[in-house]
Amino acid sequence: MVKLNLDILSENNRLAERNRGWFEAKHVLALNMVSSPGSGKTSILESTIRSMVETQKLFVIEGDQQTTRDADRIEKSGAPAIQINTGSGCHLDGNMIHLALKKLEIPEHAILFIENVGNLVCPAMFDLGEQKRVVVISVTEGDDKPLKYPYMFETSHLCIINKTDLLPYVDFKVETAMKYARQINPNLEFIMVSVKTGEGMDEWYEWLKKQLQVL
Ligand code: MG
Ligand code: ZN
Repeated sequence: MVKLNLDILSENNRLAERNRGWFEAKHVLALNMVSSPGSGKTSILESTIRSMVETQKLFVIEGDQQTTRDADRIEKSGAPAIQINTGSGCHLDGNMIHLALKKLEIPEHAILFIENVGNLVCPAMFDLGEQKRVVVISVTEGDDKPLKYPYMFETSHLCIINKTDLLPYVDFKVETAMKYARQINPNLEFIMVSVKTGEGMDEWYEWLKKQLQVL
């Protein structure tokens, strides 16, 4: 069992490196968006696309076990999207991204958002070749998520804390979540947003622009 897992992960890493080379050669910013189900990844992407699509080439790969609901939402907001259904699978892998890249025809200097399957466990193990990993948590979840799922927070570069408009109604303590996450990953950046009110979204757009500059 352990041997099988190691083989799967090393094969995935090989394919992820190929994807990474492809992104680098085309100066494409690829972001792997990970979270629990319901944290607001798709809503963040819809708002981001509506705000940036006039000035920036944006593409999306959507991962869910079933349905094309999220890809349909993304296309309505104005960016080409491809849906990957993983069936009984619970994460995207390097090969799925490789196959999706062939279909999407992404031009140079684009941003590719990869919305992973909602799951804080095994997506942490599967490198997709992305430059940056973005973990989204919402304040309707427990502020101890970083302690429970440390590998996801350890491997992420940015943590978006969403649904801040609900902070007055929930027990989530932002400082506690940040403290726990920093214990695991002292370099993790944080941006607090409410997709609903738009609060904090400009900071997220600035973060994206900063990443494009260093590609
Ligand atoms: Mg979604
Ligand atoms: Zn999985």
